[in-house]
Amino acid sequence: MSKKTRKFKTEVQQLLDLVIHSLYSKKEIFLRELISNASDAIDRARFEALTIKSGDTGHQEWAISISPNREVRTLTISDNGIGMNAEELDRNIGTIANSGTKAFLAELKNSQETGSPQLIGQFGVGFYSAFMVADRVTVVTRRVGESNALRWESDGGGSYTVEETERAEPGTDVTLHLREDQDDYLSEWRLRSIVKEYSNYIEFPIRLLVTRTKDDKETVEEETLNSMKSIWKRPKAEITEEDYREFYHHVSHDGGTPLETIHFQAEGAVEFSALLYLPEKAPFDLLGPEPQHGIHLYVRNVFITDNCKELIPPYLRFVRGVVDSSDLPLNVSREMLQDDAIVRKIQKNLVNRVLKTLAQMKDNRRDTYVGFFREFGKVLKEGLHADFANKDALADLMLYPSTHGEEPVTLREARDRLPEERKTIYYLTADSEEAARHSPHLEIFREKEIEVLLMTDPIDEWVVQSLPEYDGCALRPIDRGELDLGQAATEEQTKRDAAAEAHRDLLTAIGESLKEQVKEVRFSLRLAASPCCLVADENALNPHMERILRAMKQEVPETKPILELNPAHPLVPRLQALFAEDPDSAQLKDYIDLLYNQALLSQGLPLRDPVKFSRMVSDLMVQAGAS
Ligand code: ADP
Repeated sequence: MSKKTRKFKTEVQQLLDLVIHSLYSKKEIFLRELISNASDAIDRARFEALTIKSGDTGHQEWAISISPNREVRTLTISDNGIGMNAEELDRNIGTIANSGTKAFLAELKNSQETGSPQLIGQFGVGFYSAFMVADRVTVVTRRVGESNALRWESDGGGSYTVEETERAEPGTDVTLHLREDQDDYLSEWRLRSIVKEYSNYIEFPIRLLVTRTKDDKETVEEETLNSMKSIWKRPKAEITEEDYREFYHHVSHDGGTPLETIHFQAEGAVEFSALLYLPEKAPFDLLGPEPQHGIHLYVRNVFITDNCKELIPPYLRFVRGVVDSSDLPLNVSREMLQDDAIVRKIQKNLVNRVLKTLAQMKDNRRDTYVGFFREFGKVLKEGLHADFANKDALADLMLYPSTHGEEPVTLREARDRLPEERKTIYYLTADSEEAARHSPHLEIFREKEIEVLLMTDPIDEWVVQSLPEYDGCALRPIDRGELDLGQAATEEQTKRDAAAEAHRDLLTAIGESLKEQVKEVRFSLRLAASPCCLVADENALNPHMERILRAMKQEVPETKPILELNPAHPLVPRLQALFAEDPDSAQLKDYIDLLYNQALLSQGLPLRDPVKFSRMVSDLMVQAGAS
C-alpha cells in the first residue's frame, strides 16, 4: 500500500481545532487518555486470545510502556494490545465514533458562546487530546492476526496519511512530537507523577524507560509506575484492614481511621464496584459554601474525576471513596454526569448502602454512632428535607438530646416510650442544649415526666417542618400555641381555667400595657416554677421561613408572641393586689415591664432596653432592702 492522504471528517477537524487552540487547563490528561486506550486495546487482545485462540496466545506479559526521547523530543506510548487494521484506523481515528466526544464538542461550543472556557476541565477527548501537547502524532499499529503494520501520521491540520510499515509484534505505538513548550512531558519525574495520579489503578503494568547512570555507565531500565491494584475490584477476603486504611488515606487525604468501610460490587441493572468510607471526623469545609464531595469516579479502571457530586447527594457529602462503573463511557462529560440514568441508579444504590450501614452502626455500635452523629448529624439532617424517598430511613437515623437522660435518643426510642393514650412526641428547639435544658417551657413536662426532645442545631427548626409525624405519632413543638397535655393535666387545666376567670381584668390590663410587644396575655399550663414565658402563636410563620422571606425582601407580617403567666406563682396575687389598688399605678406598669423582660431573658432572647431593665431590677433590690 502506498502512502495515502485522507481528510479528517468535519467533526474531527472541529474537535482538533478546539483541542489545539486549547481551552484545556490540564493538558496532562492526554497521557491518561492514551494509557486508557492502550489498556482497552490490551483488554481486547486478551479477550480475543482467550476466546478466538488466534495463535498469538503464547504471549509475553501484557504491558504498556512510556518512552521519552529527549534528543528528538518525542514521547511514545506503546502497548501490545489488539492493534488496528487499515479500516479500523480510518474509522477510529479519522471519525468521531463515540457519543461522549460529540457531547463534549457541543459543550465546548456552548462554553465558547457563553465565553466561559474554564468549563472544560477534566474530561477527555480521547486520542485527539494528544494534539494539545504534540504538533505531530505518529501511530504505528499492527492488528493481532495480521502480519503487516500501518503508520498513521497527522499534524492535526485537516488530513492524515497512512502507509504500510513493519512492527515486530502486534500492538500500537503512539508517538507524540512534542510542541516547543511541552518538554515537561519528557521529564521522568513528571511522567511518573501523572501516571500515579491518573492511571495508578490500570491493571496492566505501565513501564517507563528510565536512564540510570551507574559507575559512569548509562543503562536503560524499566520502572513500573502504577500499583495495578484496583483494590475495589479485588475480593474482600484478600484485602487486609491495612490495605483498606491505606487506600482511605489516598482517597480522603485524611490520616485517621475510617469509622466504616463499605465495599461491594453491584450487579444487575447497573454494574459497578464501590469502595466507600465513612470518616470519623468532619473535614473543615463540611458546612462551608463549597464542600468537596469525596467520591472518585473511575470508568473501567480509568480515573475520571475525584469530586463527583452527582454520585452522592449533598447530605451524604462526607462519604469518601471510589466508584468504578463499567456502564459509563470514558469520555463522560460533566453535563452527561448531571443527567444520566446510569449515574442516578448508581447514586440510589450508594445512598441505600450508606443508610443501611448507618442503621447497622446505630443498632450495633451505639457509641460509635453517637460520635458519628455528633460530627455529621447536621449534614445528615438535610436529607430529611431533601430526600423524600428515604425520609423514613433518615428519620430513624436521627439522634436528639432528650429530657430523659444524658444520652441522645432516637425517634423510635421516644416513640416506644409513649403511653398508649398519647400519640405525640414533644420537642423544643433552642440555640444550645444548655439553653434548652433550662427553658421554662420544660417545667410541666419535667413535673409530669413527659419526655421532650431537644433540637439544638440551627437546621433543626427548618428540617423538623418536613417531619410532622413519626410512625403514626405527631411531632409537636412545646413552645407554640395552646399546650394540650390531655388527661395528663386535667387538674391543672381546671385550675388554670378558674384562675383565668378570676383574673380576667388583670390579664386584659397586662395585655393592654404590653400591646406593642405581645399578641395576648394568658395563664399557662406549661409553668411550674417560673412566673412567665413567651409562646409562639400557633399560626405564626416559623422563624426560618421568616428569615428567608425577609432575605427575599418580601413583606413579612410582624408576628407577636403570647405571654403566658404561671397561675400558681406568688407574683399573680401581688399583681392582682396592685391592680385592685390602682389599675394605672406606675409600679404595676414597671412590674409588667419586668415580667415581660424576664420572659425574654429566660428564653435567651435580647432585651429591647437592657439598661432600663437593669435599673429597674436594682431599684427593686433597694426597695426590698428598705422594707
Ligand atoms: P475512545 O477510546 O473513547 O473510544 P479515542 O478517540 O481515544 O476514543 O479512540 C478511538 C478509537 O481508536 C478507540 O475506540 C480504539 O478503537 C482505537 N484506538 C485508540 N488507541 C488505540 C490503541 N492504542 N490500540 C488499539 N486501538 C486504539
